[in-house]
Amino acid sequence: MPAERRVAITPQSAAKLVNLGVDVLVEAGLGSSIQQSDGEYLAAGATLGSRAELLAGADLLLSVQPPSDDMVASLKPGAVLASFLDPFFNPALISSLAANGASALCMELIPRTSYAQKLDALSSQASLGGYAAVILAAQRSMKTFPMMSTPAGTISPARVFVVGVGVAGLQAIATAKRLGARVEAYDTRPVVKEQVQSLGARFVELDVGETGQTEQGYAKELTEEQLAKQRQQMAKVCAGADVVITTAQLFGRKAPRIIDAEMVAGMKPGSVIVDMAAATGGNVEGTVSGRDVVTANGVTILGPDNLPAAVALDASQMYANNLFLLIEHAWDADAGTLRLDSADDIIGACLLTHGGVIRDERVRAVVEAATGRPA
Ligand code: NAD
Repeated sequence: MPAERRVAITPQSAAKLVNLGVDVLVEAGLGSSIQQSDGEYLAAGATLGSRAELLAGADLLLSVQPPSDDMVASLKPGAVLASFLDPFFNPALISSLAANGASALCMELIPRTSYAQKLDALSSQASLGGYAAVILAAQRSMKTFPMMSTPAGTISPARVFVVGVGVAGLQAIATAKRLGARVEAYDTRPVVKEQVQSLGARFVELDVGETGQTEQGYAKELTEEQLAKQRQQMAKVCAGADVVITTAQLFGRKAPRIIDAEMVAGMKPGSVIVDMAAATGGNVEGTVSGRDVVTANGVTILGPDNLPAAVALDASQMYANNLFLLIEHAWDADAGTLRLDSADDIIGACLLTHGGVIRDERVRAVVEAATGRPA
């Protein structure tokens, strides 16, 4: 992915891997996007190589973005891959990983439990994304976020409305509060109300009937009728906001459409929307992934497709650490190799392809639907 600036191994994580007993081979120039030189990787005990050498020789490949078809084809038979794979939207890739006999540790499928928290790359990246969304909005807004009393007059604080209070939304609320904005937030999961309030923001109550969450804590999908009710009541809050940040996602599915064109048309000229769900279809009608759109009434809709990459150094440190901890978790020190124990809670959940099989039945169903044959 051309705009990707994050890396899967930092000099710090390379040193920890070497310490564990892993031979670390790093693609020459890997760290240039985060200003880490090859020399720093060498000093950490890593060896440098070309991409072709890495792919041909690696027992374990670490990556940020899903690998290309060529990369999958170049992997050693039986190689292990640990990466984000976007598994519900990449049936061809998942199918070819299985067909090539690769063992893919899918970072999106790490369980969202307290025990697995330090390996949870979705959370580490979403949190940084939530921060980056607010900074982006603050740069593009014509208003200051804090209240300011100046000899020339008093400036009111910006009104920020955060829709979706998962990991990204919580960090967005915290960041906007730190910048001095007046923050409101909404989520269909009522359990987040207290978390919103504890950050000093107001929880917006909407009457949309029964909502809730799945056993894993993910939002349950609303019916079309509920979404319509939600939009109707939310329009007023959007109309009063200077900045709207949408973060709503449904696990394994297209993002819900929460803000329609009519609601955008009702917003103040100059207001800014950051649609953090742009890459999965967008929460806002009119969002274009990776682009900025200015509507006829002067509302800017930003559709960033890789917000964590805006803070690539810290995002890389967090992600590389998630990967290190995953490897440490599965490391068999006696054998000096990874042990992929499918009975282990974490490995069992994130080991997506192994021995030619797609192990996660939800992903397998997506692949079968896309290819029209049993996977
Ligand atoms: P997510 O990215 O899947 O979704 C973001 C938010 O959007 C969620 O809070 C969801 O409820 C909300 N949403 C969905 N549809 C909506 C709609 N129509 N209107 C408004 N909001 C809507 O969420 P996430 O950040 O990945 O978190 C998912 C769950 O996992 C949460 O329950 C979170 O607390 C939990 N979690 C637990 C741990 C842990 O225990 N270690 C770690 C991370 C996340």
